[in-house]
Amino acid sequence: MSIVLETTELHVSYGPIRALRGISLSVEQGETVAIVGANGAGKTTLMHALSGVLPIASGAARFLGHDIRTAAAHTLARSGMLHIPEGRGTLQNMRVEENLRLAWEIRPTQTGFEDAIQVVFERFPRLAERREQLAGNLSGGEQQMLAIGRALINRPTLLLVDEPSMGLSPLFAQEVFQVLAELRDSGMTILLVEQNVRSALSLAHRAYVLSHGAFTASGEAAAMAEDPAVVAGYLGHR
Ligand code: ATP
Repeated sequence: MSIVLETTELHVSYGPIRALRGISLSVEQGETVAIVGANGAGKTTLMHALSGVLPIASGAARFLGHDIRTAAAHTLARSGMLHIPEGRGTLQNMRVEENLRLAWEIRPTQTGFEDAIQVVFERFPRLAERREQLAGNLSGGEQQMLAIGRALINRPTLLLVDEPSMGLSPLFAQEVFQVLAELRDSGMTILLVEQNVRSALSLAHRAYVLSHGAFTASGEAAAMAEDPAVVAGYLGHR
């Protein structure tokens, strides 16, 4: 298996606040890896540092073997690292089709937009039905589908997914996890950060627990879901 993403001793600060303190992780091709942790643990900070939104203070970060410490967000997107941000990042006052077109323009395919959008619509038939609707009028679950569609249209090598269940009802959250499970099963490489530890551990192959900017545990996700410390800290009673 080849390593798609790797960080070594990554540090990220907001001025004097040390938000990430020595993060070392790896994601192999075809793996779904989850980073779980409580509010404020540093999950979003890690996503932003990896996707070129926040500067990395020190440490190494490599995507497909290339140093990405100083790479800009659009460069990373063009090279196949697609970030689905917390809060989805869809353009509320634009139609579903326009949202997908703007995303596609980041990394246009030679066969054209119509071919590319059909690939997204095959996976999300509901988006096809709502092609002409404003993104802001979609349900929360549909907006998350659109956010995932905006990444898929760029043929990701790695999907970075930030809190996909945030703000969704349990039913919509379940639907979004089902979509991510389908992507996982199709061989997509996924790095996910998520507060819903139970859902994240049942989706992922491997996981890391992030607490106050550092990893406190890591391993096979199925084993971690049985780990007494993880159960006590994050999973509560069954
Ligand atoms: P949440 O799920 O609440 O978004 P998180 O795990 O994603 O939590 P981060 O948002 O990455 O956590 O925040 C990590 C730490 O960095 C927190 O202590 C937070 O208060 C701090 N922090 C985040 N953004 C900033 C900022 N722009 N300026 C200063 N401190 C920040």
